[in-house]
Amino acid sequence: MTPINKNDKTKKIIPIFLPFLGCASRCVYCNQNLITGVKMSDDDFFKDINDQYNRFSKFSNNFEVIAYYGGNFGELDKSLRIELYEYANGLKFNNIHFSTSPETITDELVHEIKKYNITLVELGVQSLDDKTIASNGRSYTFKDVEKAIGMISKISDVGVQVMIGMYNQAALSVIDDAKILSKYPIKTVRIYPTVVLKDTVLESYYNKGEYTVMDMSESILISATAYIIYRYNGIDVLRLSLPANIDADDNIVAGLYHPAYGDIVKTAIALYYLELGGEFRGSRKDIYNYSGYRSIIKETYVNKFIEDDSVDCISFDKVVEFIYKRSEGFEDNSRLLKSETAKIIKKLRY
Ligand code: SF4
Repeated sequence: MTPINKNDKTKKIIPIFLPFLGCASRCVYCNQNLITGVKMSDDDFFKDINDQYNRFSKFSNNFEVIAYYGGNFGELDKSLRIELYEYANGLKFNNIHFSTSPETITDELVHEIKKYNITLVELGVQSLDDKTIASNGRSYTFKDVEKAIGMISKISDVGVQVMIGMYNQAALSVIDDAKILSKYPIKTVRIYPTVVLKDTVLESYYNKGEYTVMDMSESILISATAYIIYRYNGIDVLRLSLPANIDADDNIVAGLYHPAYGDIVKTAIALYYLELGGEFRGSRKDIYNYSGYRSIIKETYVNKFIEDDSVDCISFDKVVEFIYKRSEGFEDNSRLLKSETAKIIKKLRY
């Protein structure tokens, strides 16, 4: 049995954003107000929270999880953390997630995670390179990451939020990080290619020529490789890139953003699968699901879409497994980045 079978159904989450709450300083790339579209007023904290809850709850009546995102939850005052757990419990949520920085995980927080049934803690682990982390204004180290995962994973699921193309980040370190993190007991990952947001330190670095945006093709290749490594190792990839609903024209100065970024990455993966000899066989409806971003997969490999009602169409996890096994577990980082995939990326009209 391959590790990939650990995949679980994703639960429906109602997000509550706490932009910059608990953040000692601002990381160079971060502008939570722009990403989340939320600005907290100083007047009535719980009214703001409640407004967010009411806004999101209109979209569904069967949310299973409430999640506190957008800040550094572990650095909030203990009394506020408790109020937020109790707020969630008051809404009948027994299933709570939060995001926090690795160095905030203490015995006290672990006790709360257990007591208040926090079922997923997402750690901002943008990179495992201490120098990259420090130059982006973060204050954790790889040791903090190891310790935090060890402490949380005994009592709750652990997620990580990684980045691609950061300031002072070696491009391929993302793939090495994926290999390392996949060996730890991690349940979920979000992969964020770096975007230069307005009113950030990164914007000034970019304007002064101190930061160069990674080539989009390279970012897609790295995202695809990281996706395959995480998924093959049973880790759910919850997100690839910032949300599509961000107002890009007003808020994004430059960077690795496309509203269909995740779709493009999955298209690249499926194209690579077909290049390696795979095919999509199944009912017309099922194989149509693999037409890919702007139907590129289907247009490019018409003869590899075979209608056959007698078989179930291959799952995306099987696609990942097929590639992983033929790529020798990506032992050689450059392998995926060479001729075949370069050819594939050229076909993507992003
Ligand atoms: S990245 Fe996280 S820790 Fe850094 S400023 Fe943004 S919310 Fe705070």
